Amino acid sequence: MAERDPDCVFCKIVAGELPCVKIYEDDHVLAFMDINPTSVGHMLVIPKGHYDGLLSTPVAELKSVASVLPKLAAAAVKAVDAEGFNVLQSNSPCAGQVVMHAHFHIVPRRTGDGIGLGFRQAPPREDDLEKTAQAIRSEL
Ligand code: 5GP
Ligand code: ZN
Repeated sequence: MAERDPDCVFCKIVAGELPCVKIYEDDHVLAFMDINPTSVGHMLVIPKGHYDGLLSTPVAELKSVASVLPKLAAAAVKAVDAEGFNVLQSNSPCAGQVVMHAHFHIVPRRTGDGIGLGFRQAPPREDDLEKTAQAIRSEL
């Protein structure tokens, strides 16, 4: 597992140096309530090791997170009587990442809750999808 980052708030939570409202813990994963929830039941699921985002988190650690995400989301939805949920994961400040320790938000949702995702979408110009897809495929 990665070294902890002494300045990282989530590493401090993992180490028990800062409090959290814990939901679940195993050797690799910690889930706790977000301190500033978007909806009731909003929680964060993190690898215990310090990785600054999705791309630096080893696949084995991501598998540990992925193996508990569905049951945590299902429990949150049931517990707060929600209808659905979002799983959100941001990478870099330009994408809204504030805490630079990889984490997944589980945000319980209800019809008409007004939360929204904040993504504006529009149809692409002719050919753009194929051109962009080709550029991405060539980077794989
Ligand atoms: P990001 O914008 O980086 O994806 O989300 C970071 C999240 O961490 C925010 O939703 C914020 O409310 C939450 N957060 C920041 N500091 C703390 C903390 O000390 N404790 C808890 N429980 N959540 C935190
Ligand atoms: Zn950390």
